[in-house]
Amino acid sequence: MRDMQAEGIRFILGRGIKEIASSGLWGRLFGRSGKGVILEDGERLKAEVVIVATGTRPNVDLIRGTGMTVNRGIPVNDYMETSIADIYAAGDVAETKDVVTGKVGLTPIWPNAAAQGRISAYNMAGCRRPYGGMVGMQNAVEFREIPAIAMGLTQPEGNNYEVLADYQPDRNYYKKLVLRDNILVGMILVGAIHQAGVYGALIKKRAEISPYRHRLMREDFSYAHIFSRLVY
Ligand SMILES: Cc1cc2nc3c(=O)[nH]c(=O)nc-3n(C[C@H](O)[C@H](O)[C@H](O)COP(=O)(O)OP(=O)(O)OC[C@H]3O[C@@H](n4cnc5c(N)ncnc54)[C@H](O)[C@@H]3O)c2cc1C
Repeated sequence: MRDMQAEGIRFILGRGIKEIASSGLWGRLFGRSGKGVILEDGERLKAEVVIVATGTRPNVDLIRGTGMTVNRGIPVNDYMETSIADIYAAGDVAETKDVVTGKVGLTPIWPNAAAQGRISAYNMAGCRRPYGGMVGMQNAVEFREIPAIAMGLTQPEGNNYEVLADYQPDRNYYKKLVLRDNILVGMILVGAIHQAGVYGALIKKRAEISPYRHRLMREDFSYAHIFSRLVY
């Protein structure tokens, strides 16, 4: 963010958009040509293009009124079956259980959709297979050649969590691990993401990390440390 600000990019945080104004509305409101957005505090920003990225909402209109249970999405059981027997839902539209939070809800990302599709297909074909559950929040991005990955619960609330963090601004490095009862429940990796696999596996498996807890934050912590505990 600091780098991007240095290049003149302005970040406006904590202030929502009140209105997206077309050229007609802009002219009526301000008496001059233009189009763009008006923020909650009244600030106007001219814009040629407005991109809205504020979450997802499945289109469930098709099945409303069919008798199938619908919340924000379509709740399914462990076999991806909806409230109507032999009808399955998978992907962005399905509500499943998050292994980290235990909450039932949407997990609208591609790997979850693919896994749910596969499990639904097995069950539709008569092979009874439970869906193991997924971590709802998983993001992998790269900003200006700085890779970043986040997974699970990264902004914990309450006193039940322990946060381990290492921030080294000089090398654009940040690592944050969130623990609950010695189980890793969330991570943010910025700058060095080579440990995303091992941390991700610990989160998904809900593994007890006390045997290697003292090494967990080290940059060389890897599967080798886990396997060595199993072997010896
Ligand atoms: C801008 C954007 C960026 C994203 N980036 C990422 C990312 O970086 N990583 C990631 O993991 N995920 C990302 N996602 C999410 C990912 O695309 C979805 O999780 C995934 O595509 C879900 O697959 P799906 O099959 O459930 O739904 P979709 O891919 O939405 O497929 C549903 C299909 O059903 C069709 N359909 C809808 N209604 C009807 C109807 N009545 N009759 C017939 N067909 C119908 C639609 O046209 C569509 O083709 C992104 C999504 C968006 C929009």
